[in-house]
Amino acid sequence: MITHVDNVDVLPGVGPKRLDALHELGIFTIEDLIGYFPFRYEDLGERIPSETLDGDKVTFKGIVSTPPVVTRFGKKNQTRFGLLIEHENIRVTFFNQPWLAQNIDVGQEVAVYGTYNAAKAALTGMKIINASVDALDPIYPSSKKITAKTIRHLIELAWADVRGTLGSLVPQNMRTKYRLLDRNMMIESMHFPSDMATAKVARRSAAFEEFFVFQMRLQLLKLADQNFAGEGINYDERAIRNFETSLPFKLTAAQTKVISEILQDQKRPRHMNRLLQGDVGSGKTVVAAMAMYAVVTAGMQAAMMAPTEILAQQHALSLTQLFDNAGLSLRVELLTSGLKVAARRHLLEDLENGDIDILVGTHALLQPDVAFHHLGLAVIDEQHRFGVNQRAALRENGVNPDILAMTATPIPRTLSITAYGEMDVSIIDQLPNGRKAIKTTRMGHNQLDNAIAFVKKQIDVGAQAYIVTPLIEESESLDVQNATAMYEAMQLEFPQYQVGLLHGRLSNDEKKTLMADFKANRIQILVATTVIEVGVDVQNATVMLILDADRFGLAQLHQLRGRVGRGSRQSYTILVADPKTDYGTARLDAMVETTDGFILAQRDLELRGSGDILGTKQSGVPEFVVGDPIKDLTMMEIAQQEAITLVSQKNWDKQVDNQTLVDYLSRTMANYRHFD
Ligand code: ADP
Ligand code: MG
Repeated sequence: MITHVDNVDVLPGVGPKRLDALHELGIFTIEDLIGYFPFRYEDLGERIPSETLDGDKVTFKGIVSTPPVVTRFGKKNQTRFGLLIEHENIRVTFFNQPWLAQNIDVGQEVAVYGTYNAAKAALTGMKIINASVDALDPIYPSSKKITAKTIRHLIELAWADVRGTLGSLVPQNMRTKYRLLDRNMMIESMHFPSDMATAKVARRSAAFEEFFVFQMRLQLLKLADQNFAGEGINYDERAIRNFETSLPFKLTAAQTKVISEILQDQKRPRHMNRLLQGDVGSGKTVVAAMAMYAVVTAGMQAAMMAPTEILAQQHALSLTQLFDNAGLSLRVELLTSGLKVAARRHLLEDLENGDIDILVGTHALLQPDVAFHHLGLAVIDEQHRFGVNQRAALRENGVNPDILAMTATPIPRTLSITAYGEMDVSIIDQLPNGRKAIKTTRMGHNQLDNAIAFVKKQIDVGAQAYIVTPLIEESESLDVQNATAMYEAMQLEFPQYQVGLLHGRLSNDEKKTLMADFKANRIQILVATTVIEVGVDVQNATVMLILDADRFGLAQLHQLRGRVGRGSRQSYTILVADPKTDYGTARLDAMVETTDGFILAQRDLELRGSGDILGTKQSGVPEFVVGDPIKDLTMMEIAQQEAITLVSQKNWDKQVDNQTLVDYLSRTMANYRHFD
């Protein structure tokens, strides 16, 4: 007798080759196999000819009206008979199934599945069906190496043994509350539904189970964080207050609020896993600086990871300035991929000895030879640029430090309860005082001269400008060409000013020098590709001129616009474009209408639609087999609530009704044993 925990190769007919094919589909155990659901059903539902369109695949049920006649031509043959459906008589033709004739008699009721030809009132039959069993034909996702039919056959084989033996993952009370099928019924009805309504209930039950199990995992991760990992950071409160007083500005109320949330979290002897969300320019860096300083006052180290070299350089620089300014002698170092071997070795030695307080870098920080003396906090800037894997890699790097992930991208609800479901969230919902709303205009390329004239006016009064050149999908070299051409044009246009050119092909040192020159106003106009997209902070820059703006996504445009309006001067964004699609126009309109990142993110979701969000891996929404977390968001939220409620109950994992779930989680989660 086969059970659900067996490996699939216990089934007859599963040799090494099939096993391979099954593994590729993610099927390892019998449980995986019976949980491999059809993605749709061929609807064999009955209809009548007058309601059937030409070319439809349908099932007609009727009385055989003329005796079947088999005609042969060469090696082929056809079987024909008349079928009376209510009052309409149609002709049914089967090709190459002569044996059917023996089983069909005039006056007999039969159901035939096939393709309807309306003009000829004829049905090309595919099969005679037994309506009660075959009403819906399940269609399985298959691969080159294994057909849907084989998969179906294996499922039937396995189900014959396993059916009726399964406990439910979703506890009884929830199943009653939300009218869900128990697991046996659910799986049976997913594979062999008697009708569409049953298939629907089964799918709802399966989606809920999928969401609920997923949310249970997140809750268990969260529990593990709270109860076991992490150490309390015994920071020096007075020193932190002094640092705050020494800042060149007064913190906003929102910054103060999130800093105290973070500090409280750090003090607790639990692992911090916190997402800091705040629109571009809301001042997240200084919040991170205070959290990192706190760790240093407790004798530990901090790391800050940024998605680009430029941003990492900028962070290293501005952190150093902040600490110097406060008269604090912290050692902040930058680890880049361009470092010479000997220099790198020295740096890593100092890091391991604890001589470096804060290490800033790109994902180069995740390399295995980067060992800290005592890492107390890892900050991840522009977290949405990193994958979940990198987040995990940081955690696995030795001691499991506290994590502070930062993002300007507002998190739609779907993401917040799926991709970030295990994190606590702090939000900066306010910009520093004195910021003037950035004015955004759009114009066609024929007005480019006006735009350039405007840039000149701003620079004449002492401000600086960015000019961002078009984004050529997949072609960095064309990006560079465009930027170079613009750079040369601007040098001719502005002989009295310094123009800089920044793109991804420059060396790190070149980038560093350029950014430093721009920051110090030795360069007034910076022509750049999107390498400046995130994080760059130059307060004196007041114009962001974006060429072919319709080539950029809404989130990118918002990030680019966020490079200006960082000081007290009025700032401007000029979008130059002749959009060719409605979608392009809509994005530009949205940019002109609002500077609110949250509204833009919402608008972005609407414009792209959920299909695309799910289609693009980078959206960060985890993939589900049955449920769609965007369409079924309410169900996902309910599942989350139920998971939270369940794990908050004492001894929930000892209760009889939850044993199947506990077994399942301990079987499928690698680290489950750490939770109990
Ligand atoms: P982001 O949240 O986009 O990372 P930054 O941390 O780069 O924003 O901050 C944007 C700019 O605002 C920086 O120049 C920073 O020094 C400045 N800033 C941060 N907090 C304040 C504040 N409370 N008052 C005035 N300026 C601030
Ligand atoms: Mg930033």
